[in-house]
Amino acid sequence: MNMNVMNAPASPPVQDPLDKLFDTMFRPMNAQGVYARTGAYESVVEGLAALISSRREDETEIFRFPPVMSRADLERHGYLKSFPNLIGCVACLEGSEAEIRAAADRHGQGGDWTTSLEPADLVLTPASCYPVYPIAAERGPVPERGYRFDVACDCFRREPSAHLDRLQSFRMREYVRVGTPEQVAAFRESWIVRAKEIADELGLPYTVEQASDPFFGRLGQIMAFSQLEQSLKFELLIPLRGAAAGTACMSFNYHREHFGTTWGLHLADGEPAHTGCVAFGMDRLAVALFATHGATIAGWPPSVRAALRL
Ligand code: ATP
Ligand code: ZN
Ligand code: MG
Repeated sequence: MNMNVMNAPASPPVQDPLDKLFDTMFRPMNAQGVYARTGAYESVVEGLAALISSRREDETEIFRFPPVMSRADLERHGYLKSFPNLIGCVACLEGSEAEIRAAADRHGQGGDWTTSLEPADLVLTPASCYPVYPIAAERGPVPERGYRFDVACDCFRREPSAHLDRLQSFRMREYVRVGTPEQVAAFRESWIVRAKEIADELGLPYTVEQASDPFFGRLGQIMAFSQLEQSLKFELLIPLRGAAAGTACMSFNYHREHFGTTWGLHLADGEPAHTGCVAFGMDRLAVALFATHGATIAGWPPSVRAALRL
């Protein structure tokens, strides 16, 4: 054993440039990527939500979803194939009073109560558009003009990280389009333009780049390659760490007929509907605003404060 190495002082933890904003935005909650949000931070998130609402297209139906959804629905979505590593599943103590009491009491005796947990029929919602496709499919054939939805929820992804722009629990807002391939393509094109306008108004530097989802494992690399080849995903990236790669704060996704086929969501001619969505990472956008304009909202450019009504 090399004692010199063993006794060497630990190198100082690498500081992330976003860390200096922690106290402005968050308070710890004893878990990585799960934070209490300050009033200042939340006022920015509310301003962002209102700004995005102001851009809502006509004939858009609004839904706000709970932070949990049906496990069976998530399974049907194909999530286990694509992102099994990110799933958070609700687990509960089931059984008689005596069984539940015995499990809970193990904790008081220094034991492990969690060995009695049973997976529930619920998972934590990982993306805010997932619950909308079965709702749309329930109605029968998609009308000629298609559907537009405005959806949002608290999302969970099991990706603990020390970085303040990668949370386990975060807010996602989305506009979703359901219809013909042409309708969905036009929707996505127009939203890439509108999203850039929003970023300009907020004084945020950005690039829009082709992207792929972080599909799980080696098989996932093939899925990611195919997604890139078909240009199914774009992201609006904002530099939060100087010259380092930017952080995806919005994404523009074309699912082709994936959800149409999965949910029996058909057009009038019987063809599966195509779907697409534009997703706004509300927490990432808020972090980006603080990282770009500084910890003191009163010092932000007047045009940015006006856009957010701050
Ligand atoms: P990334 O490339 O950073 O892993 P993603 O491509 O998996 O993100 P999407 O599935 O497109 O993200 O989710 C839509 C948006 O939700 C992202 O553009 C981002 O703004 C936000 N988002 C995704 N994951 C997180 C996270 N862990 N913490 C905070 N925001 C997130
Ligand atoms: Zn979506
Ligand atoms: Mg990505």
